[in-house]
Amino acid sequence: MIGQKLVIGAHTSAAGGVQNALLEGKKIGATTIQLFTSNQKQWVGKVFSPADIKLWEKTLDETGLSKIMSHDSYLINLGAPDPEILVKSRKAFKEEIKRCIDLNLDYLNFHPGSALKEPRDQCLNRIVESLLEMEPLLHGNKLRLLIEATAGQGSQVGCTFEELGYLIEKTKNRLPIGVCIDTCHIFVAGYDIRNPEGWDRVLKEFDQKIGLKHLYAFHINDSMKELGSKVDRHAFIGKGTIGLESFKFLVNDPRTQDLPMYLETPGGPEEWVKEIQLLRECVNA
Ligand SMILES: [Zn+2]
Ligand SMILES: [Zn+2]
Repeated sequence: MIGQKLVIGAHTSAAGGVQNALLEGKKIGATTIQLFTSNQKQWVGKVFSPADIKLWEKTLDETGLSKIMSHDSYLINLGAPDPEILVKSRKAFKEEIKRCIDLNLDYLNFHPGSALKEPRDQCLNRIVESLLEMEPLLHGNKLRLLIEATAGQGSQVGCTFEELGYLIEKTKNRLPIGVCIDTCHIFVAGYDIRNPEGWDRVLKEFDQKIGLKHLYAFHINDSMKELGSKVDRHAFIGKGTIGLESFKFLVNDPRTQDLPMYLETPGGPEEWVKEIQLLRECVNA
């Protein structure tokens, strides 16, 4: 059937237990999901019991989903100028990694960080230091850390391919790392992906400045705001300022069609089921 080989899903809810995120994924016709492994607004993270892990494994097996991605807590800033926040962030990020390994996940997607009142390059270097501190945790499992391309809201770093490329360059020989492109974020950060010609230019630039082999996943979101606005507001697929043509390209181009895609659009499960269907219908259309 057309579009069935797309690895596509959404950020589903882990309320009541992480296995519920898998069940919700299955319900909406997804073949993958993204989830929070703990409350994303709290510093104190969840620790899984052996029973939790067993139930996760059983549900994963039953649902047949793959390429499961975790999204890190919103509080973590691996480039924080405040030493106290930095220590807390690194500790919480280690716990994120630990939980991902407990669940045998493929990816941990994270927001690189915010410079606040400091110069951006100082923030980038601190993020590199933070990531290198994670190295010992990442041996002997399949987990890969994915830097999320950001919208560049406020003092967020990671909104240009130069900054993402710098982070990858400084860490790639020491740990499993890569990039997750959020379509809404790169668009409001100034990358025009509204049509195939635009996508082609953007992917070529990505290849020059980062390397396409370091691209592992997509957050697929349309945008409420304009190109270059640096304001991050997700819209339904095909109903925002990016438009359906852009997503048609994504699910058909050989450079991108095999990478896992996760919806973070505002509608919730009732809309995701339709958006997944829509994107599947876009394959070869
Ligand atoms: Zn994110
Ligand atoms: Zn966003």
